[in-house]
Amino acid sequence: MVQDRFNRTIDYLRISVIDHCNLRCVYCMPLSGVPLTPSADLLRPDEIERVVRAAAALGFRKIRLTGGEPTLRADLADIVRQTSAVPGIREVSMTTNGVLLPRVIDELKAAGLARVNLHIDSLDPERFSRTMRLGTLADAWASVAAVERAGLTPVKINAVVTRGFNDADVVDLAALTLEHDWHVRFIELMPFGVGECAQMARTALVTTAESMTRIEAALGRLEPLEKVTASEESVNYRLPGARGVVGFISPVSEPYCGDCNRMRLTADGRLHLCLLHDDEIDLRQALRSGASQSVLEDLLRQAVEQKPVGHSLSRGISTRQRDMVQIGG
Ligand code: SAM
Ligand code: SF4
Repeated sequence: MVQDRFNRTIDYLRISVIDHCNLRCVYCMPLSGVPLTPSADLLRPDEIERVVRAAAALGFRKIRLTGGEPTLRADLADIVRQTSAVPGIREVSMTTNGVLLPRVIDELKAAGLARVNLHIDSLDPERFSRTMRLGTLADAWASVAAVERAGLTPVKINAVVTRGFNDADVVDLAALTLEHDWHVRFIELMPFGVGECAQMARTALVTTAESMTRIEAALGRLEPLEKVTASEESVNYRLPGARGVVGFISPVSEPYCGDCNRMRLTADGRLHLCLLHDDEIDLRQALRSGASQSVLEDLLRQAVEQKPVGHSLSRGISTRQRDMVQIGG
């Protein structure tokens, strides 16, 4: 196991496999898109596998594939197959907007995908399309059905709470857990980069406290649940008589840096040391100049050692050189 300077054990690698997306969520991608990494500069499945082998040798156990939208990669099943076969890796999961998921879920499951997190910001068709621009609520429900059919359960739903777009929808989303054994998690909005989405995020934050008050007023007390692992980023609750779980991820109002266990790999092959800082270490150059596994392990070790702690989100200061779509959340 590798530990950083702050005695945090880092064993979870989040891999952004692509920075393209088929949606344009208001806080993540401008309608006009962002400059995209050319396909030749994205890490190939064999390169991702080499990074995961080095990570597993250092004690990394969990992998999450993200993006951009991971299902846009035609070779996603190869990435899942190759990473989940690496000795030491216990789980490969994926975060997705779900639009293309029904078409690929069986192939991904057969390749070794263990779990899926779906991104659904609203249950109102008009507000859904206004927030997750280019997406439809019908697509979202089809993705939920696909996850249940494939048995990659429990269904896990993430929503970013955004003032003026879906802040009132937290009640309907939380109410899903009354009848379904699903996990619905609300994420506080974070600003990234320097564009219009970052600007918007600075004014549209809704704190977890505000969302909780709204949910409790409509649905009753949120009963706290014990954490399964210290590094779990969401704080979980259950509504009275509910089958599922309501979670809150609060990077702005309650930073959880002390329990962070993550390292991130960008789609263009940089280790991004902390979501909310700009520090990076280039792995792609090493991969493409024939670096051995021990060199990759050294670079990963260096990344863990240099991992920052603490951030300035509450003062509106965040990652500037990267947009969320490039880091993957
Ligand atoms: N496209 C996939 C999706 O939407 O789930 C995966 C990539 S997306 C960047 C990963 C997660 O980041 C999603 O759950 C999304 O809601 C969240 N996210 C995107 N922009 C965010 C922001 N500015 N603040 C907080 N969460 C954000
Ligand atoms: Fe695409 Fe996900 Fe960003 Fe929305 S949050 S624009 S679905 S990458």
